[in-house]
Amino acid sequence: MKRYQMYINGKFVNARRGGFFPVYDPSTEEVIAEVPDADAQDVDDAVAAARAAFDSGPWSQSTPQDRGRVLFRIAEKLRAETALLADIETRNSGKPIVEAEYDIADTATCFEYYGGLATKVIGHVNPVPANALSLSLREPIGVAAQIIPWNYPLLMAAWKLAPALAAGCTCILKPAEQTPLSVLEMARWLEELGVPPGVVNIVTGFGETAGAPLVTHAGVNKIAFTGSAQVGKMIVKAAADTVKRVTLELGGKSPNIFFADADFEAAIDGALFGVFINQGEVCSAGSRILVERKIYSKFVEAMTAKAGKIKLGPPLERATKMGPLVSKEQYERVTSYIEVGRKEAKMSVGGARPATFTKGYYVQPTIFYDVDNSARIAREEIFGPVAAVIPFDSEADALRIANDTPYGLAAAVWTRDIYKAFRVVKSLRAGIIWVNHMQPTYVEAPWGGYKQSGFGRELGPWGIEEYLETKQVYVNLDEQPIGWY
Ligand code: NDP
Repeated sequence: MKRYQMYINGKFVNARRGGFFPVYDPSTEEVIAEVPDADAQDVDDAVAAARAAFDSGPWSQSTPQDRGRVLFRIAEKLRAETALLADIETRNSGKPIVEAEYDIADTATCFEYYGGLATKVIGHVNPVPANALSLSLREPIGVAAQIIPWNYPLLMAAWKLAPALAAGCTCILKPAEQTPLSVLEMARWLEELGVPPGVVNIVTGFGETAGAPLVTHAGVNKIAFTGSAQVGKMIVKAAADTVKRVTLELGGKSPNIFFADADFEAAIDGALFGVFINQGEVCSAGSRILVERKIYSKFVEAMTAKAGKIKLGPPLERATKMGPLVSKEQYERVTSYIEVGRKEAKMSVGGARPATFTKGYYVQPTIFYDVDNSARIAREEIFGPVAAVIPFDSEADALRIANDTPYGLAAAVWTRDIYKAFRVVKSLRAGIIWVNHMQPTYVEAPWGGYKQSGFGRELGPWGIEEYLETKQVYVNLDEQPIGWY
């Protein structure tokens, strides 16, 4: 078992109080590492380091070109270390190794993208009268605290760190308690790749003891959070006293809508991929599958048959398509929702850990059908391999059901009718819409939700905007006195 330290001010350190907590492999349920159990004192140290690096350290003097080059070097290093990082990610999170490799590739691409964008942040000349010059300057917000979940550990770290660093901010990142290992591994290389001490700090700990003090800390200017709606709401309230900039990505209950004229084979694949990829532990999971009644029975039958063949297995095996859920807590949460579902709807497949596994937090892909949209399994984010299939009768009916949710992160629509596709696209209240696919995510395109799925956008130029302030500068060109008094 490996004992890790956290990364503050360019040094690997223990928590001031000296405590550690265990990190598990969810496929074996065994402890694989220990990491420092940080609290408010360690948060103070990390904020002081980030503050100094921003206010007077080398980062504040760096040029966008310097920062871009550092991000390119990080991207290159991540690519070179794919095998190591994917192995750590898989052992720690339970995700299939092939998916972990894609995650590392996307992580590198994210750093590369923002490396390029660092030199494209441009200000503005405002059209004021001729006796003045008015400029809008873009400046980094300052110290960013970034709190991330466990479903895409290194990729979520990249979505937060890369735009912040490109903008010139300094960062304190708190990984989820379940999955701190890959980002700590990455931290080992940061200084030699050109990230000065204090610019990136990684604080390991629990939400209540390490996350909460970050949110209220007077030295932090911005909070970027991805996680549950429940914690997101607490964060907005806690950040209000110091008027921090806040961005939230809170997941959802996204509809995946299938009209009768969709390509049937592609649709079945798309329904399964939309909800079961990464064991369903995806904020944009298509967990409500809306199917036009004309094809409903055939659709449920075909989905069920194919879902029953999805290969659950040890996540390090390359043939595995679904590994275990991330933790015992998540296993219990998902299986308790399955019990709720049994009372609310009919189940066609899944529902338990397969009998072939004696340990590991495995849950079979599970499909409930004839689900009413008012059922708990259709309204609450389960964050596991549980699909709720709901029939609909018309386009208007599909839209009514799709939008009848407090969330609005994502949605997908499957049809060959381009008129219908775009009518539906325009009427869906969600931040990301796919047509005839579900889940492709590109660093160049914006990511974020409507309604209770959060606010702010990550990725693309939108992502860096969230780390910039706008400073208005007025220059008087008129040499006369104001002449007012
Ligand atoms: P949380 O929202 O509890 O955790 C997300 C991050 O916030 C973690 O780093 C967590 O720390 C931290 N955190 C928790 N409480 C606080 C707090 N009071 N102040 C500051 N930071 C805090 O999600 P969970 O991981 O516990 O998962 C629970 C459910 O959340 C899932 O089942 C799913 O429904 C949803 N979820 C949604 C995600 C999404 O992408 N939208 C991602 C993950 C979960 P720590 O983990 O150390 O406690």
